[in-house]
Amino acid sequence: MDDAAASPSAAYVGRFAPSPTGLLHAGSLVAALASWLDARAHGGRWLVRMEDLDTPRNVAGAAEAILAQLDRCGLRADAPAVFQSRRLALYEAALRRLQAKGRAYPCACSRRDLALAAAAPTGGSDALGEAVYPGTCRDGLHGKAARSVRLRVEAGDGSGEAKIAWTDRRLGPQHQDVARAVGDFVLKRADGVFAYQLAVVVDDGAQGVSDVVRGEDLVDSTARQILLQRLLGLPTPRYLHTPLVRTADGAKLSKQTGAMPLALDDPLAALRPAGAALGLAARGTRIADWLESALGCWRERIEAP
Ligand code: GLU
Repeated sequence: MDDAAASPSAAYVGRFAPSPTGLLHAGSLVAALASWLDARAHGGRWLVRMEDLDTPRNVAGAAEAILAQLDRCGLRADAPAVFQSRRLALYEAALRRLQAKGRAYPCACSRRDLALAAAAPTGGSDALGEAVYPGTCRDGLHGKAARSVRLRVEAGDGSGEAKIAWTDRRLGPQHQDVARAVGDFVLKRADGVFAYQLAVVVDDGAQGVSDVVRGEDLVDSTARQILLQRLLGLPTPRYLHTPLVRTADGAKLSKQTGAMPLALDDPLAALRPAGAALGLAARGTRIADWLESALGCWRERIEAP
């Protein structure tokens, strides 16, 4: 499946990074299980990081509940969970470095300004239908008040080409021209919240994460993250994006599409479908046995030539 098995296991650090906007559901457990299995199969460390920066979306008690769900499923981290809300100084320092390099600038555009610009005949939008930032504040605020901070994405970003190229361990070669697909993206929001893209890159770097294993819904963010790693002088981890669990009508299973939180009373009933979603023929009637069996399947996969 990939060449990750050949890497020195001592350097392997994996992580699961849930946002406490609700409890784990069948979809998020797939990412948690895969990242745990991959870390264990490599003899590496597995960390849990609570991505709780988006304070308006956080749900009270969800972080503790997620940790309890992971524990019940036998997915135990090698260090206490870290909380992004306690690491703001790190993100501020990274933002200052980007500003000092002339790569971050204040932006006065409101959502309404951006919607109007995107609706204009020349307004660009990327493949996902999201508006590409039109660059209004690139050359200054023109007397308007700063709201957010954006990254200045240069057309040549990505080893002298416009594209960031990387290889996903499951999906194979990927590339994105960040300037064309996304444009100057937000690093710090108008409400003062550091953007996910910045925080995840700073933390993966600070925690020495060698392998990111997470859901396929985040594949589109990877090029932006690699660009930020390069600008901040951080190494790029290996990436493996896991299959998404879908609802009966094909939508991604998520809190928005009504995914039920995993019940704590029968963890195996939750682990079995997560294993199946990863294509693992794991067996066992006790959690520890089932995880050991799943680990055997995962090892076989990553050791396959
Ligand atoms: N916190 C993100 C989420 O729950 C995941 C971040 C990541 O794994 O990079 O969707």
